[in-house]
Amino acid sequence: MNRIPASTLEQEAAGLPLPLNGEDPLFAPHLRALAHGELLVRQCMSCRTKQWPPRPFCRHCQSEDFSWIQAPGAGTIASFSIAYRAFHPSYVDHLPAATALVDVEPGIRIAGRWVGELDELEIGANARLVVDDWAEHGVSAAWSRVEGQ
Ligand SMILES: [Zn+2]
Repeated sequence: MNRIPASTLEQEAAGLPLPLNGEDPLFAPHLRALAHGELLVRQCMSCRTKQWPPRPFCRHCQSEDFSWIQAPGAGTIASFSIAYRAFHPSYVDHLPAATALVDVEPGIRIAGRWVGELDELEIGANARLVVDDWAEHGVSAAWSRVEGQ
């Protein structure tokens, strides 16, 4: 798995906080693991349903008893969106930019920035996890194409 070095995006944001989940305690175990290249999702200990994104209680059985389990660091592109206008000032110089929704296993669909050429984006194509490193702001999941495809 590749790790993308901290970019200058944060410096370009003119003091605005980056739109990351770093301060949300529901995401903390996921983000700590992601910093080491592992993708964790929540699993309900009552009904065993895997869940993403994390919620305070199970959407299937309402239990509040969860553990974190490893999910595959690869999957297939379920959908994507290409932005031609920046939703945050830090992205102005990086347009157009894409976000991919990747199914890593049934019921677990994870969004992340697309790292690569936009013409590589195709629904059903394979994608692999990469980690966006936002320096002191934390990390976020990103996706890129699988080599050789
Ligand atoms: Zn449950």
